[in-house]
Amino acid sequence: MMQPVFRFAPSPNGFLHLGHAYSALLNAALAARHGGRFLVRIEDIDTRRCRPELVEACLEDLAWLGLEWEEPVLRQSSRFDAYRAVASDLESRGLLYPCFCTRGDILRAMGANHPVDPDGAPVYPGTCRQLGRAERRHRLDSGAAFALRFDMGAAMAATGPLTWREAAGEGLEDLRLIEAKPENWGDVVLVRKDCPTSYHLAVVVDDAFQGVTHVVRGTDLYAASAIHRVIQQLLGLPEPRYHHHALVTDEGGRKLAKSALSKPLRAWRAEGADAAEIRARLGFG
Ligand code: GLU
Repeated sequence: MMQPVFRFAPSPNGFLHLGHAYSALLNAALAARHGGRFLVRIEDIDTRRCRPELVEACLEDLAWLGLEWEEPVLRQSSRFDAYRAVASDLESRGLLYPCFCTRGDILRAMGANHPVDPDGAPVYPGTCRQLGRAERRHRLDSGAAFALRFDMGAAMAATGPLTWREAAGEGLEDLRLIEAKPENWGDVVLVRKDCPTSYHLAVVVDDAFQGVTHVVRGTDLYAASAIHRVIQQLLGLPEPRYHHHALVTDEGGRKLAKSALSKPLRAWRAEGADAAEIRARLGFG
């Protein structure tokens, strides 16, 4: 079997907290246990929110936890050309369309009982998918800001039904075949108005670029794997295995209080906690 590759991929738009620490420690522990590599990837596509000092702080906190990862650390802000190339490929295949809607436009277009996506956000009503060719041209020529949305219906018609392999436990061998339901997300944004990608596109492109074999992350991203599978299939990228871990609990398996969860690692450190204590608290003693 190929050497497994694991990654922890934080978005440095704030300081890391215990939830991040758990995910990073779990990825590193699994890499060690399975003879794999452990990467850290900085998901800083939002160059306004991901300030350089937050990137520094993030790496410093991971080192303080006692983690070691391979250098160089890939930063998504250095990969914009790769995302542009992939987006233009999908666009030329008729799978992306420009969307000029503002948040307000979307809210106004929604009727009663409007469907929400697995994150609880309104599913895009498809307004700009239905624009006529001339109208679309006119708006593009007028310089209006636009995002590029995935035509999920067209994408699903191209791929057919998909599944992903979810490891039930940390042994990573007990694989369940999960039916992907990308239709629950509707026409998600793949290229944001303000940057040349979105989370979904960048994460798929870079997991493949870095040869990640095991995507281990929190259950909050479980349903999003359906979108990622569609993109992988359309781009002919390998299918990693997935393991979505429960959100962090205390040593005794108790849910952590919100205040403990959201407290930055550096605040624990400032209050005198040492890394061994934090690791033990998260079950990595
Ligand atoms: N950057 C994402 C986050 O911090 C995680 C990406 C992933 O693990 O797929 O929520």
